[in-house]
Amino acid sequence: MNKYMDQALERLEHSVISGKMSRRAFITTALATGVIGGTPLRALADELDNIRQVQADRVANLGQSYDYIVVGSGSAGCALVGTLAAKTDGNILLIEAGDWDTAPSISDPRIWFTNLGTERDWGDVAIPSAGVNNRAIPEHTGRVVGGGSSINATIWARPTKADMDHWADVTGDASWNYEASREIYKRMENWQGAPNPEFRGTDGPVWVQPAQGLLPLVDATLEAVAEVGLPVTEDLNTDREITGNGFGLMNQIIKDGRRNSMARAFLYPALARDNVTLLVNTTVNRVIVEGGVAVGVECVRDGETVVFRADREIVLSAGGFNTPKLLMLSGIGDEEDLKAVNIETVLHAPEVGQNVQDHILHGGCLFESPDPVEHRNSAANMSGYLKTDSSLELPDVSIVQIEIPYASEVVAKEYAIENPGNTWALCGGLVAPKSRGTVTLASDNPDDRPVVDMQFLSHPDDVTYLERAIGVAREIAHAPALKDHVVKEVAPGKDLQGEELANFVRNGATTYFHSAGACRMGADDQAVVDAQLRVNGIRNLRVADSTIMPRIVSVPTMPACAMIGMKMADMLS
Ligand SMILES: Cc1cc2nc3c(=O)[nH]c(=O)nc-3n(C[C@H](O)[C@H](O)[C@H](O)COP(=O)(O)OP(=O)(O)OC[C@H]3O[C@@H](n4cnc5c(N)ncnc54)[C@H](O)[C@@H]3O)c2cc1C
Repeated sequence: MNKYMDQALERLEHSVISGKMSRRAFITTALATGVIGGTPLRALADELDNIRQVQADRVANLGQSYDYIVVGSGSAGCALVGTLAAKTDGNILLIEAGDWDTAPSISDPRIWFTNLGTERDWGDVAIPSAGVNNRAIPEHTGRVVGGGSSINATIWARPTKADMDHWADVTGDASWNYEASREIYKRMENWQGAPNPEFRGTDGPVWVQPAQGLLPLVDATLEAVAEVGLPVTEDLNTDREITGNGFGLMNQIIKDGRRNSMARAFLYPALARDNVTLLVNTTVNRVIVEGGVAVGVECVRDGETVVFRADREIVLSAGGFNTPKLLMLSGIGDEEDLKAVNIETVLHAPEVGQNVQDHILHGGCLFESPDPVEHRNSAANMSGYLKTDSSLELPDVSIVQIEIPYASEVVAKEYAIENPGNTWALCGGLVAPKSRGTVTLASDNPDDRPVVDMQFLSHPDDVTYLERAIGVAREIAHAPALKDHVVKEVAPGKDLQGEELANFVRNGATTYFHSAGACRMGADDQAVVDAQLRVNGIRNLRVADSTIMPRIVSVPTMPACAMIGMKMADMLS
């Protein structure tokens, strides 16, 4: 389907789901305008129309209390609600600050980055970090149904054994270990690649496929990887999880050219059930705690303050920065910090907002091709992970090929990108960062964004790992198999050493937007949540999202968040 058809279909989808157009008119208009492409039109119309009917009725008859209240319909929230709704008769209220996910920039994975800086992005920017030469780096997160899974780069990468076994170790709970979590990934997946029942699931709701319709550049890069003696694997989500090493094609959540977000995979089917109510454009400002028990949430909807009470549990799935913000606005955080912004402490929980991590994507190493490079899919179709020292627990090097000239603002300025249409990037990345940052409140006003202090590259090993990654990226790019795709190395252009290389690292650092860890899970008293994701010290309040990660997984974070959501559903039912 071409871009204009795709946009037209999305506009029609929005008309149906918001009740402005009937199912019949949708089909007639779509057929009349030729907006049918590969999309099974009638099935889509039925799905949207069912959802509209059920949800319009439920929203018109809102209750004052629900069994479960889930805050945030992101990767974890969608997996949680979709799974829980099918397992319980309990009434679930899902509250989302953003709007429906029908924008064309959501469904079309090729233009995912056009969502950044729009109303579908919370728009946080980390305060300057010394480790990145005092640059203030954006930390985008999704603000729309589907959360990050609606605006992200569609990559589906599962954590390594070392990642998950670490979570099991720090919680003392084997149900978080690699083998147990792999079973959950298998339950989620509808894998379209080579069958491998030991690792991959084929009956789940999440459509996952190996990157399709590739540029010759991608095959050549994988050949180059092999030429320099690095391991190429048929499927990145199999043996690589055990060894930590492997290069290959990305797995993506793209079906018939459209994004299959966690909302479309998990939540949409549940929205036609009679036990789920989704409130969009509704922002939760705080959790109401009475006598140590979370009893409800206070939100703003259509400019009015509304309270919903929870008879059983409240789950915060508001994402990397908003979940700690909500806890602190509710009086759950460090007492001194709360006092500084005039919030009365309900529970002194000093680790709320600590331990924040993100992966670093270095932008970057740029290469000019003799031919135009028209990116496919989300522009990221090949990647790899490597331990340069076998004694390392996690990969120190990650590499992502990006089929556009991806560079930080400093690198883009320093190195003239004369021919952007022909330029591609082989980005070094840091997936096992040792640096830790914080999220704190700027004020007691829920409308203010929190202060995000990521302390990027404050740990010296993080710089060393990125230096190694840049070395590996350049070695691959200069291998014989890529000679027809590289007429010039645009940046860095030479073998930088010492301080010059460290500076290139610091100037090129950007993030993957994988914020995690602010409400760390653990077995110790200081942990924000326990292994059952219960907020320590408060009853009936849990957290299920990226913030519970005791240590960020060494891969993109969406699948792990969906896994956390599914596990939460298992725990609640
Ligand atoms: C631009 C971008 C690209 C990325 N690329 C990838 C990728 O390719 N692969 C990958 O695996 N990961 C990727 N990620 C990361 C991944 O999408 C996130 O890690 C993941 O979505 C986090 O899931 P979550 O459930 O923790 O929260 P989120 O998905 O962030 O969802 C939180 C939800 O809560 C809502 N919310 C927040 N506060 C409130 C409130 N007060 N009231 C009501 N609702 C609220 C938000 O609007 C949002 O919908 C990317 C992220 C971004 C932003």
